[in-house]
Amino acid sequence: MAGEKEVDVVIIGAGPAGITAALYAKRKALSVRIFESKAAGGQTADAIWVENYTGMKKIEGIKLMQKMQEHLKDFDVEIDEAAEITGIKKTETGFEIDMENGEEKIAAKAVILCTGSKYKMLNVPGEKELYGKGLSYCATCEGPGFKDKVVAVVGGGNSGANAAIFFADICSKVYIVEFGEKAAYDSVYEKALKAQSKIEIILNTQVTVIEGKEKVEGIKTKNRATGEEKVVPVNGVFIYIGMQPRNDLAKQLGLELTEKGFIKVDTDNRTSLPGMFAAGDITGELAQTIVAAGSGAKAAVSAFEFIKGLK
Ligand SMILES: Cc1cc2nc3c(=O)[nH]c(=O)nc-3n(C[C@H](O)[C@H](O)[C@H](O)COP(=O)(O)OP(=O)(O)OC[C@H]3O[C@@H](n4cnc5c(N)ncnc54)[C@H](O)[C@@H]3O)c2cc1C
Repeated sequence: MAGEKEVDVVIIGAGPAGITAALYAKRKALSVRIFESKAAGGQTADAIWVENYTGMKKIEGIKLMQKMQEHLKDFDVEIDEAAEITGIKKTETGFEIDMENGEEKIAAKAVILCTGSKYKMLNVPGEKELYGKGLSYCATCEGPGFKDKVVAVVGGGNSGANAAIFFADICSKVYIVEFGEKAAYDSVYEKALKAQSKIEIILNTQVTVIEGKEKVEGIKTKNRATGEEKVVPVNGVFIYIGMQPRNDLAKQLGLELTEKGFIKVDTDNRTSLPGMFAAGDITGELAQTIVAAGSGAKAAVSAFEFIKGLK
């Protein structure tokens, strides 16, 4: 399938939604190409552990995604990696898809958008300047470089808790700084966090500045109840304050979006444009690997029905 210029379905994004969509489409005997702007795996590849994917008990996020890729390979579908899709046009027969390099154009009868979401920024002084110099949005990627150091994880949701548990094994001290009065992680994280004496949770507190010249040296915090300001010395800052939809292509196509910018889909994962489907986090559904995989499957079946004129 790799290299084909005319296919039944193009899938954009190779996270759990895209990979599963590709597998289902291929099993329906459709010709498929799947494009990924970075390396395949999506956000799940950043998860230290996944223990809520049925049948897997507990598995490193990256390993789970490798298994999905291997499964797809068994169906002879190769993922085009480092291949960002920058444009999609509606044509008389379907869609024309533009690659980032502008050299390749692919025609498809249907498209499934599985572009997921990306990290939200804090938008405070020092964040942009110190990115890559001790400030990161991915504990799996940059975390191992912080052995025996002090780190702050900004955001007390599931992703923040996940990162803090990882850091507690390698760092000398870990702060979780949470804006709200209560942290928002699931009960499954509670036990693991409590078992780690190195983790200190600072609630009701805003990070206002990332301090440092050449590299991160600390965070300035402000208690939201008392207004008290402090500088907490840290070597690393990892920001986990939520995600925002990667909706550039959807906007370009004029698809209907929700207030928060996610793609509106019906129960069969159809978007507002016939022949265009969406699955996974980009639809604003529960941001979980298993949900993304499930909706990828549904979108592929809907694309099959569309192509065959069954619905
Ligand atoms: C740190 C972390 C820990 C997590 N832990 C868990 C967990 O334990 N359990 C769980 O169930 N869920 C977990 N999640 C959530 C889960 O990873 C996501 O819900 C899931 O990955 C969403 O899958 P997706 O395929 O919709 O999107 P994504 O995984 O976001 O994949 C989308 C892919 O599309 C690519 N893409 C975007 N635009 C383009 C373009 N224009 N051209 C080509 N490619 C493009 C992106 O590079 C990306 O690889 C975690 C998330 C994070 C960040």
